[in-house]
Amino acid sequence: MANEGIADAVNALEPELVKFIQLLVRTPSLPNEEHAVQQQIAARLRTMGMTVDEVPTDFAALRTHAAFNDDGFAPTGRLNIVGRWCGSGAARGRGSLILNGHVDVVAPGNLTQWNDPPWSGLLRDGRIYGRGSCDMKAGLAAGIFALAALQRAGLQPAHDVLLQSVIGEESGGAGTLTTIVQGYRADAAIVLEPTGLQLCPVQSGALTFRLRVGGRAAHAALRSHGVSAIEKFVLLLAAVQRLEAERHAGFANPLYDEPRYAAPISIGTVRAGAWHSTVAEELLAEGRMGVFPGETPAQARAALQIAIAQAAAADDWLRTHPPQVEWFEGQFESGATPIDHPLLKALQAAHQAALGVPAAMRAVTYGSDLRLFTNHAHIPAVLYGPGDVTLAHAANESIAVGEVLHAVHVLALFVADWCGATRT
Ligand SMILES: [Zn+2]
Repeated sequence: MANEGIADAVNALEPELVKFIQLLVRTPSLPNEEHAVQQQIAARLRTMGMTVDEVPTDFAALRTHAAFNDDGFAPTGRLNIVGRWCGSGAARGRGSLILNGHVDVVAPGNLTQWNDPPWSGLLRDGRIYGRGSCDMKAGLAAGIFALAALQRAGLQPAHDVLLQSVIGEESGGAGTLTTIVQGYRADAAIVLEPTGLQLCPVQSGALTFRLRVGGRAAHAALRSHGVSAIEKFVLLLAAVQRLEAERHAGFANPLYDEPRYAAPISIGTVRAGAWHSTVAEELLAEGRMGVFPGETPAQARAALQIAIAQAAAADDWLRTHPPQVEWFEGQFESGATPIDHPLLKALQAAHQAALGVPAAMRAVTYGSDLRLFTNHAHIPAVLYGPGDVTLAHAANESIAVGEVLHAVHVLALFVADWCGATRT
């Protein structure tokens, strides 16, 4: 393969790449406000001679889909951008490819925690700072510039390459789901999330739930006349913790850093009681339950519901006043691509060829659009991109330019191999 031509092209593109990431970071793109940055992406893809589709998100068309999550933002009009670099049709390579990234970012949070304004795009000591720099505008830029590097090296893929810039990933994946419902397909997909250039072909799912526990109010001075919803919740919390341990006892997967927490169950909020001197009449707890790879959301939901029901059956009050479990907001499936899939072998080979070291393979416990590709488009997919996910969603989020260049190089070699590049 034309490795050297590609390496030179990647290095020559560095100043332009830095400017482009800065432009993206300086164009704020909170959920429902992705339009301006999407126009920047579309303009860039057009200058590269790609065919660009502007694909509006339409909740009405998605609502009945099993993987749809209503993020509560505008149900129409938010644009996804799909650029297509048409393949030459030469009899080379393995197939077509989707490079996918999201432009929506989470809110900057407490501004006093930021050293510079969150949309600064400041370049300092080889890092670009700002909300979205790491998650995941740099990754998206890396995908675009990998294609630019191939063009600069005088190469054209034999099979189509689709560059998808989507909205709404952080709040449920409406953008990528739109592209799937609209029929965009390829033989493989790379989701350019910040994985620190590790290959992540497996992700746990996550389900948000609410637990409603009833008690009986009484004056605290006569508390034996009442039933505390808080004390009853403590029983249920113990049951949830037992369930988490039991579910992980039979689970082994070497891709997880912490296999005991591959699908954690966490209570995030608890609200109870009306007044300090009244026995608490009601408690509402909200939490997040992980879904194992290979497990369906329905199976996970049933496991929690059974655990709560069994705990309730063992208590005189709860037996006749059963706690209610509701599932709301994010209901994210798990997703996985088999670790011996040719996609992963080819990406590992490109990583090794570009960087001279083998790539690590990991599973992640957070939700991502990978699941939509593997489960609903039946496209093998992997998360792979520059950036440290522990910096994502945090103050002073940043990305190392050197790591982005590494990603550009690996991705360019991968596209050349997978899609079968030939000289133009
Ligand atoms: Zn992300």
